[in-house]
Amino acid sequence: MQVTDVVIIGAGAAGLMCALTAAGRGRRVLLLDHANKAGKKILMSGGGRCNFTNLYCEPDNFLSANPHFCKSALARYTQWDFIGLVGKHGVAYHEKKLGQLFCDHKASDILGMLLDECAQAGVELRLETSVSEIAKLEAGYQLQTSAGLLSCTSLVIASGGLSIPTLGASGFGYQVARQFGHTLLPTRAGLVPFTLTDPQLKALCTELSGTSVEDCLVSCNGQSFRENILFTHRGLSGPAILQISSFWQPGDTVHIDLLPHIDLPEWLAEQQRERPNSELKTLLAELFTKKMAGLLVDSWFVNKPLKQYSPGELKAVAEQLADWQLVPAGTEGYRTAEVTLGGVDTREVSSKTMESLKSPGLYFIGEVLDVSGHLGGFNFQWAWASGYAAAQYV
Ligand SMILES: Cc1cc2nc3c(=O)[nH]c(=O)nc-3n(C[C@H](O)[C@H](O)[C@H](O)COP(=O)(O)OP(=O)(O)OC[C@H]3O[C@@H](n4cnc5c(N)ncnc54)[C@H](O)[C@@H]3O)c2cc1C
Repeated sequence: MQVTDVVIIGAGAAGLMCALTAAGRGRRVLLLDHANKAGKKILMSGGGRCNFTNLYCEPDNFLSANPHFCKSALARYTQWDFIGLVGKHGVAYHEKKLGQLFCDHKASDILGMLLDECAQAGVELRLETSVSEIAKLEAGYQLQTSAGLLSCTSLVIASGGLSIPTLGASGFGYQVARQFGHTLLPTRAGLVPFTLTDPQLKALCTELSGTSVEDCLVSCNGQSFRENILFTHRGLSGPAILQISSFWQPGDTVHIDLLPHIDLPEWLAEQQRERPNSELKTLLAELFTKKMAGLLVDSWFVNKPLKQYSPGELKAVAEQLADWQLVPAGTEGYRTAEVTLGGVDTREVSSKTMESLKSPGLYFIGEVLDVSGHLGGFNFQWAWASGYAAAQYV
């Protein structure tokens, strides 16, 4: 049986950060993953360029049933700490927009950096290793793995959530939490595209598939995000839609202002005064693509010269464009979701150490916990911060 100080299950973002930091403190660390490669999600992230943190990271950027939980870890390992690590390794990066930092070259720069740090600190990384049984010892844990028996003083669960099973996601962390008496909050896909079944809506989205509309205001359940939306064959995607999906529950109506930067009643009244013979389709083609203007008018309005619109009709046009209401049929689910909402209830975990309040020596970090970030580098920042916090105590 191999005896070590710390076993970390899951060599993703949180597990790698925890491993390199704990080993840097002189702990003997064994990092296990059932996949054939560490950090697969890091490699896929940010369209292959990894949006590794956000300049404006704040606790308000996170969703959790216990909103205060993330504050302590985020304050002790900030975006500036991770930017410092990136700088130390000479990884080139840039701000794309809204404080989102991306690699100039490839996401593998970030993974390479973390693996280098792990190797330098003496972390033992074991891939293609699965854990079939965990038993609590008087002091520590014993694990039955595909590579034999292990025992450790501290056991860290960093196995992530359910999103994208093909990248190694599994419900393992939730099973361990349940085994040791933890409460699990219901999980669902977050940062995920919407699907539509209403035939008219679906036809509109299919026709416009690939069209992006810049600067829309998307709202649901008291939350709003102002960003692009993208029409897809299945429904709607794009940053504003992904963001709002984390706040959406089945049956909820989503409100989309397609032109938040324009005072529409005023603009339409002006057009009616100055270009009374122009048709609505022609005018809207100045705000959207010609194809989109045509399809929107055919779906929602009657196309005619503006002088023929009554004040009530013009008001209805303005209202529809500023408040397009739709009820998504669902989401694309874990197959494409960037995160899993819900998970291990943080009220049973120490916000200082990430240690279980139910079973001493057991730690939970990263996405397996009920902490999910907005789109924009916040989820990685949570993985870094929670991994770092646990590493101080394991
Ligand atoms: C396509 C995509 C793009 C993303 N882009 C961004 C982005 O640009 N910026 C951002 O901030 N966030 C992004 N995210 C979210 C981010 O990747 C996650 O929030 C983050 O990786 C969570 O880190 P984690 O270490 O908790 O889990 P993960 O990174 O998912 O790591 C979990 C690890 O545990 C392993 N594992 C699972 N089950 C077992 C088991 N039974 N036994 C052993 N090992 C196991 C997995 O193989 C995996 O290596 C993206 C997510 C996806 C899916």
